[in-house]
This record gives sequence, structure tokens and C-alpha cells, in this order.
Amino acid sequence: MLWVSLLVATTVACEELIAEVTAPPEEESTSRGEGRGSRRRRPPRNRNTQPTFPTVAPQPNNANTFPQQWPQPAQTPNRWTAQPAPAGMVAHRLRVTFVDVGQGDSALLETADGHNALIDAGPPEGDEHLRALLAQKGIRTLDWMILTHPHLDHIGGARNVIGAVRVQRVIDPAFPHPIATYDRLLAVIQQQAIPFTPARQGMTLALGSGVGVEVLQPRLPFIDRSRSEANANSVVTRVTVGGVRVLFTGDAEHETEERLLAENRAQLSADVLKVAHHGSRYASTQPFLSAVGARAAVISCATGNDYGHPHADTLSALARNNMTIYRTDLQGDVELTTDGARYAFRTTR
Ligand SMILES: [Zn+2]
Repeated sequence: MLWVSLLVATTVACEELIAEVTAPPEEESTSRGEGRGSRRRRPPRNRNTQPTFPTVAPQPNNANTFPQQWPQPAQTPNRWTAQPAPAGMVAHRLRVTFVDVGQGDSALLETADGHNALIDAGPPEGDEHLRALLAQKGIRTLDWMILTHPHLDHIGGARNVIGAVRVQRVIDPAFPHPIATYDRLLAVIQQQAIPFTPARQGMTLALGSGVGVEVLQPRLPFIDRSRSEANANSVVTRVTVGGVRVLFTGDAEHETEERLLAENRAQLSADVLKVAHHGSRYASTQPFLSAVGARAAVISCATGNDYGHPHADTLSALARNNMTIYRTDLQGDVELTTDGARYAFRTTR
């Protein structure tokens, strides 16, 4: 009951912040099944190992940013309006840099009107490069830090990023995962009174003019039968600007893709796919790739990593689906620029 109480407390405390995002269709506190799933997953009853999710501090509402209306994309999958174009030919409305953080994920979103978000913060080894990139771009504020799940290769650089720039809001699955790095990160978020919201299906996040971020997953109850439950409950988001869409999958597993296909099919179509789980063989099933229908795929992983990422079968599947593949291990930072109608890629090596 402790965990349930904590979650309810967090939910109540988050009320103000959730008012700034578009609320999901159902109140999460109504998902009673979640309690059972969480009890199975949570560690032994030792208060010291319970994750304590930060409460939300009141934050002045930025009238220029919230709430933000943005056009709903057409609900027809695979009806393409976006076109690839040569680098340098596309005006910047949204730039996404898939940062070469080594074996992990981090993607920086920059809008033309000066709003920024970071989806994951890479492993500790990638932190120096990530912070250097933020500094080089002159980024001092992140509207959102979206952490897809609490594994080291996604949150390892988060604490130092919070130390380097002003992070206005943090959103993550609020999935209980008592590792020291995550506990320390939550403590810093709490200490600095950074508003923290559990990511839930149905939310949309504002990010500047005309850029929409839809949260497709997770929802409660969490997926509780998976090779990796932390991976399986990754935050999955689709970022839309005009007719261009980019789908971010975190380290989704097969079970995540099944849930997305069952519950979010109309929101899956995208021009660019951030391939799940560093291109491992535990995701990127054919039904999922068909529903997404992307023309370009980005894989974030380290050269010669211990996991054999990306898997040869995944590379074949992406190629079979006519996707152009970009890889941070081979090409360094992978930068996507779009004007909302066309998009272009540039790589640093
Ligand atoms: Zn990962």
C-alpha cells in the first residue's frame, strides 16, 4: 500500500502541472489494477529502497508556452506529405539531434522559436559530449526533460544536465526501479523543486509554436510480463511539426509494440523512427514497422558495444521496409531538420 499511497500522493501533487499538459483521457488513479502489478514488482518492504518520486512544486505558468494548441495530424497511417530533401535545403522549424552519447540514447529537440527538450540523457560516459553540445548550441533552458525509462544508458547524464542548464519539467514513467543513479536523480529533482510528472498515455506536451509531443505510452497498469519491464514501459512519444512526424520508442519491447498496435495504431505513422532499444532484436517487429511506415530510421548505440547492437535481423527488417538507416555509432551526431513539410539529415562523420 505504501507504493500505491505514494503514487496517489504524486498524482494529487501533480494536479497543477497536469493542467499544463493535455490530460490523458482517464484519471490514472482509477486504474486500480496498477496496484497489484506494482506490488509484484516492487522490492522487499524496505523503506530505503522504495523510490520516492518528487512532489511537484508550483511553477509560474508561462503564458507564451502553455497551454499550446497544435494541429492534430491526419489519422490515416501511411498517407505521406513529408518528403526527404538535401541537407541545407530545409528551413528549420524543428531540429532533432540524436546525440552520439555512446551506448545509450539522447535526442535534443530545438524549435525555431527557442524551445528545447531532451529525450533521454545517455549513459554517464556520454555526458561530457552531451553537455558540450548543449553549451555549443547556447542552450540554457530545457522546457522538458523526457526520460524514457530509468536505465543507466538513458538517465546516466541527467543529473549533470540538470546541473548545467535550467530544466523546467521532468517527465518519466514513474516506474519503480531502485538503482542508485535513479534514486539520486529523483532526489536532485526533488531538491531543486523541478516539476515532475509521470508520463501517461493521452498526454500532450507543449513545445513551442506548432510542435506537438504526444505521449503514446506507458499507461497503467504497466506491462508486467516482459523480458524487461523497465524497457517495456518506456515513454513512447510522437513529435509532430506540420506534416512531419518523428516517433521515439525508448527501449520498447515486443510487448510495448503489441500494446501500441492495439491502443495507438492511428498515432504510429511517422516519417522518422528512433529505433527501439538500440536496434536490438527484442523490438521492431514487422507489424510495428508496417504501422509506422517510416522512411528513415535512427539507431543510437556505441561502436563495438557488448550487446551486439544493432542486431543484424533488425537491420535487415529496417532495410526490407525501405528505411534509410542512420547510426550514431558510425556517423556520430545525427541531425534531423524539418520545416514541417520536408526533412533533411546531416551527420557529423
Ligand atoms: Zn537503452
